[in-house]
Amino acid sequence: MNSLSLHSLVPEHVRRFEPYTPSRPDPVLMRMYGVEHLHRLNNNENALGPPDAARLAIEAFHSERAAIYPSGDCFLLREALAERFGKLPEQFLVGNGSCEVITSVIKAFCGPGDNIVTADKTFAVYEWVAEFSGFEARLTPLRDYAFDPEAMLAAMDARTKIAFVCNPNNPTGTYWSEAALCAFMDAVDNRCIVVVDEAYLEYVDKPDFPDGMRLMERYPNLVVFRTFSKMYGLAALRIGYLCASQELVDMVRRTHIVYSVNTQAQAAAAAAIAADAGHIAATRRMVAEGRTILEGCFTRLGLEFVSGEGNYIMARAPLSDTLLYRKLMKRGIMVRTMTGFRFPNWIRVSLVQRPVMEEFCQVLEDVLGV
Ligand SMILES: *Cc1c(COP(=O)(O)O)cnc(C)c1O
Repeated sequence: MNSLSLHSLVPEHVRRFEPYTPSRPDPVLMRMYGVEHLHRLNNNENALGPPDAARLAIEAFHSERAAIYPSGDCFLLREALAERFGKLPEQFLVGNGSCEVITSVIKAFCGPGDNIVTADKTFAVYEWVAEFSGFEARLTPLRDYAFDPEAMLAAMDARTKIAFVCNPNNPTGTYWSEAALCAFMDAVDNRCIVVVDEAYLEYVDKPDFPDGMRLMERYPNLVVFRTFSKMYGLAALRIGYLCASQELVDMVRRTHIVYSVNTQAQAAAAAAIAADAGHIAATRRMVAEGRTILEGCFTRLGLEFVSGEGNYIMARAPLSDTLLYRKLMKRGIMVRTMTGFRFPNWIRVSLVQRPVMEEFCQVLEDVLGV
């Protein structure tokens, strides 16, 4: 009988890949750190939760429906998206979080020897999916905390299939203006697919911020990612989508798992976009207020910080980020350590309601002993 040799069965690019360890469930963490409450400021979740219409849709789900498969291609949700954004339903592909559509796009366009280009300090999933799938991820340094178009163009070659641009960037909050994005699209000149990840678009209130869904009429190689995890407060239901030309979506669809999006997520998402203006306005007010409080706090404490768009802010810790994380956890506050994002000893903090932001500032002051 042979003994199992995983080493020879698993491809080198998988063996080399370091698995990501998600944080423990809140009750486990609270026991570990001996706290009665935990403020989650680590994942850029919307502290206001989902819009009321989405809450009703979730509550309207009857348990009998759990036995029935969901719509395999999110039929009604795609109709709602088409209506909301002035597109065709065929221009949308919905996934189990936008993380799933990242995977589907890479599978659709990359073959052996191909590569993707993105930044070194951005949402890491583009890089991770490329690498555990056996494709090179070419990472270009940020410039003034922003994606550097020249560096990305210089990194591209004939085997580059996709350029990923996170706009605004997680974690730095920087963004490309419409002029900057168009200049990049013109320079790429249809040589590869350009994905613009607009996970935080709904938080941005800047006149020069580009709407990828409009620009894709001009640039057939443009793909836009959006998610219901952030502004729409549906992170637990795992739902996000891409929008592109019908031909492009028809290609990506081939590599996409059907039935990956559950019934409750589809219903909640459709309800969430139907009338979202009030929810977006309330969330933006909360985030703006939180940003003012944290900027003041970091300034008072003399900490360097980077604050731009999105519902988060980064600051440089005067000690190891993991040590600061543990000290904050003992006081019931969870932040994101950024060493893994290649920002050694920085933390990222989600912007939530005023009382929690004020508590964070007080606790930070206490643990830094100032
Ligand atoms: C949070 C986030 C997403 C969302 O991922 P989901 O899989 O939809 O939850 C996508 N892109 C960026 C940049 C993010 O920060």
